[in-house]
Amino acid sequence: MSEKTKGQLLAEKLTYKSENTFDKIEKSEEDKAHSYSEGYKSFLDKAKTERKAVTLAVSMAKDNGFVEYTHKTKLEVGGKYYYNNRGKSLFLFKVGSEDIENGIRIAAAHIDSPRLDLKPRPVYEDAEMGFLKTHYYGGIKKYQWTATPLALHGSVILRDNSVVDITIGEDENDPVFYINDLPPHLAQTQNQKTLALGVEGESLNLLAGSKPYPDKEVADKIKLNILSILNEKYGICEADLISAELSAVPALKARDCGLDRSMIAAYGHDDRVCAYPALTAIFDDSCTGKHTVMTILADKEETGSDGNTGMKSAILRDLIESIAKELGGDPVVVRANSKCLSADVNVAFDPNYPEVFEKRNSAFINHGVVISKYTGARGKSGTSDASAEFLGYIRSIFEDRGVCWQIAELGKIDQGGGGTVAAYIANLNIDVIDLGVPVLSMHAPAEVIAKLDVYMAHKAILALFNA
Ligand code: MN
Ligand code: MN
Repeated sequence: MSEKTKGQLLAEKLTYKSENTFDKIEKSEEDKAHSYSEGYKSFLDKAKTERKAVTLAVSMAKDNGFVEYTHKTKLEVGGKYYYNNRGKSLFLFKVGSEDIENGIRIAAAHIDSPRLDLKPRPVYEDAEMGFLKTHYYGGIKKYQWTATPLALHGSVILRDNSVVDITIGEDENDPVFYINDLPPHLAQTQNQKTLALGVEGESLNLLAGSKPYPDKEVADKIKLNILSILNEKYGICEADLISAELSAVPALKARDCGLDRSMIAAYGHDDRVCAYPALTAIFDDSCTGKHTVMTILADKEETGSDGNTGMKSAILRDLIESIAKELGGDPVVVRANSKCLSADVNVAFDPNYPEVFEKRNSAFINHGVVISKYTGARGKSGTSDASAEFLGYIRSIFEDRGVCWQIAELGKIDQGGGGTVAAYIANLNIDVIDLGVPVLSMHAPAEVIAKLDVYMAHKAILALFNA
């Protein structure tokens, strides 16, 4: 083997390269990432909506010794608590031995994903078919949601305020729903339209039946038959659908993608691919840092984080205040010294569409978790922009703890852009930086991520918790 030249050695020392994680880790680490991904896939299948994700996370938390917290709960060092915010967002925290005024170490991910919500009066029939009208939630490319099997998830609140939970289409013996699209034979006009207008919001109607109720005397027999099935199965009537949250999501299970099984294709990686690592990090036996740590599973990120279950609400500030006071600290000081990873996905470079990326500052699958110093659009508008000091701190704890990471922006300047919950947490005077997993086909009914990257997200969050 020939010795390296002076220039080669200098290049090694001075230049920065983003590398494929497969080239950097041992086989044993790769095996760990693969078995970690099995747990993640099962989480994906059971947590397709924020309500399901909270229910599942609460049961995981209980299994890991967490107890329910109210603002009045007495806290003790070493205690593990969860705060369930209306069944749609969740805060888990572990009280450390360190003075609470030295801040909380936080990982915040979101558990809502783009989908199709039912309208308040969804059921109708037309041309002897029964449909459910939807109003899309989050940023979707509407044409992607037609001609694919869909499942329905959610809760209906009855007149007596009792709750009926509904899941249809996940069991392989369940029926599914479907959105009709035009065949190519009749799509000449549709094909001339832009992608944005080819399928419009008001055509996203779920096909829900075609069999008439057997009574010649009634009108709208197909609608009545659908209502009668819902009534028989769930005890609900049409008016109950007004006080309901029902969402149509892809009726697909998470699957390994690629002959080498290095990736996962699934619905809702954005942002379960960060929510799951934020959970597994706080549950990890090696999560033994001195600071108080917190995992946040937020709702409403995809619609702008407004509302009392979104990250713009007062809940995080209130919780920090309750925790600080109970532990004898000043909440203002606690916030000033807290550090947070805003754990959300980023766009992975896609060689099918290189024109929207700036390759030197793009995220690549299998290159580890992506740090983004800033997000936003049109000249970084809407970003909290982490300080160089905080990025420097994060970089050093990742390198000390074997986290494979990369730095990236979301696509080319002025091609679009996007935001995360980072700004809302940073506005509370907390140091925040965006960190996440690169995703291919983000917001599509099936998105793709690499197994090594979700595993590195776990390691990254654990690194902050233990720092
Ligand atoms: Mn997201
Ligand atoms: Mn998103």
